Amino acid sequence: MTQTITVIRGDGIGPEIMDATLYVLDAMDVGLRYEEADAGLVALEKHGELLPQATMDSIRRNAIALKSPLTTPVGEGFSSINVELRKRFDLYANVRPAKSFPNTKSRFPSGVDVITVRENTEGAYIGEGQTITEDGETATLMQKITRKGSERIVRYAFELARNTGRKKVTVVHKANILKTTSGLFLKVAREVAALYPEIECNEMIVDNTCMQLVMRPEQFDIIVTTNLFGDIISDLCAGLVGGLGLAPGANIGKDAAIFEAVHGTAPDIAGQGKANPCALLLGAAQLLDHIGKPDDATRLRKAIIATLEAQDNLTPDLGGSGNTMSFAKAIASRV
Ligand code: ATP
Ligand code: MG
Repeated sequence: MTQTITVIRGDGIGPEIMDATLYVLDAMDVGLRYEEADAGLVALEKHGELLPQATMDSIRRNAIALKSPLTTPVGEGFSSINVELRKRFDLYANVRPAKSFPNTKSRFPSGVDVITVRENTEGAYIGEGQTITEDGETATLMQKITRKGSERIVRYAFELARNTGRKKVTVVHKANILKTTSGLFLKVAREVAALYPEIECNEMIVDNTCMQLVMRPEQFDIIVTTNLFGDIISDLCAGLVGGLGLAPGANIGKDAAIFEAVHGTAPDIAGQGKANPCALLLGAAQLLDHIGKPDDATRLRKAIIATLEAQDNLTPDLGGSGNTMSFAKAIASRV
């Protein structure tokens, strides 16, 4: 069956890595149709808006989007288009896999395979904070944790474990100090965990988690945590396995899900064919998992790994002398 997805080519290196990604998906013949929609700088130039209504409608209609990085110009209404998309579609789960790949400049070229599931709508990121004295020298920040918000993110993590055959979920918290907020999250997480007896659940305090991740990352499988901790931990995990060029992410809600590369528009290399397409390709693999095509997702990941192993047309960030499209073609030849 053919499924239509929204494709947002984005800014900077966005169009190049999207061309490469769609080339590989087409070679796989996975039955996707693409509906292109604009967002970011390119949308501002073409339609006078960063996030046109037609783009919102397309995502709402198709429920699934593959998105390249976007530029949010300063002073155009939003602080970030990505944050705006999360808010408008209530994309509460930010899902960031970090996996070791061969021939990458990485501290852990093998052994790491961890998915961070970060709550994306509450916690410390609900507002901008406030200055509370006239001299502007004292500021406070409110955090909000709810049972509903905690329950849906922890459920998401356990469902992900169940559906992908993963064995363990680590609940990361700071309930020993942040007794009310992190305490509530932990309490709800324990209740949810009890509904999934076949999946091991352990609890870890966030500071210890950081140390454990650096020393023994292979002990982790799925991590679920609140917004701020998840933000930091997911980047830490990306760093363990070689950084930006290989880090995909998904923002998932009840009615829509958007898959992307974690990196930005990389204006320093845009238009030069140097961009590594793997992060967006791995985002596409997450998309395939999400829409119930796990065999295709596995096929795509295996082709990427085989191409890295063969060092066939790798991009300059991986020490190769290939370019974005020749790397994609090398991957496509292995799907
Ligand atoms: P933005 O403002 O959109 O975040 P940025 O310049 O901060 O753009 P990042 O993506 O955060 O872009 O990139 C940081 C560095 O990593 C840049 O030097 C960039 O060239 C490099 N980089 C990012 N993504 C890739 C990629 N896919 N392939 C190769 N290099 C990349
Ligand atoms: Mg950046």
